[in-house]
Amino acid sequence: NLKLRLDKVLSHIGVGSRKDLKKMVKEQRITINGELATDPGVYVSPYVDVIAVNKKPIKYREFIYLMMNKPQGVLSATEDRDDEVVVDLLEEEDWVFNPFPVGRLDKDTEGFLLLTNDGKLAHQITSPKKHVPKTYYAVIEGIVTDADADAFSKGVTLDDGYKTLPGELKILKSDTESEIELTIYEGKYHQVKRMFEAVGKRVTYLKRISMGALPLDPELELGEYRELTEEELELLK
Ligand code: URA
Repeated sequence: NLKLRLDKVLSHIGVGSRKDLKKMVKEQRITINGELATDPGVYVSPYVDVIAVNKKPIKYREFIYLMMNKPQGVLSATEDRDDEVVVDLLEEEDWVFNPFPVGRLDKDTEGFLLLTNDGKLAHQITSPKKHVPKTYYAVIEGIVTDADADAFSKGVTLDDGYKTLPGELKILKSDTESEIELTIYEGKYHQVKRMFEAVGKRVTYLKRISMGALPLDPELELGEYRELTEEELELLK
């Protein structure tokens, strides 16, 4: 049974600073199980006690897990001197958790980006030993062939000499322009683009459509995000 100071609990979820909370307690705006709180330093059970601010019960959580449909033109980073970054797209109430992107999508890549403040989960997902599958939809210049699929299924050698793990290429449309889905089990820099370069082709549009067993929610417009449900979180682990 986790016990934390009342002011710690409320500041963690963004209600206010320690100083703000002292004032709010004094102003009788905070209750614990229906009783007025009188001491901001009192220990509470944040997942058990009903803590209300201005009569509205709060929901405590240590970690936040967000699924974003990343738009083009935004960097997978927490800050940058020149460019807009993905955390700029978050509401302030989520921003207080200091979430960061798990892995990276290129500036011109769209789709499923996970943001969390759970370092352990982030490490699990990005660890090269784990081989968490990631599936991309891409548009390719020219004709993608079964020979390309065959090459990918054996692993291809990238421009720096690295030989990729096998990947699964599904050809959706093969014409002057092709559409494909590619599942890979690692995440080297610009990996999808470089795998196509290795077979002499160019990616003109790239979108990540799933991570692990979890697909991108098709309801999310570009730039939108939402919290994962507990069931979805399990699919990532
Ligand atoms: N592969 C790429 O080339 N770019 C991405 O953003 C993700 C995978």
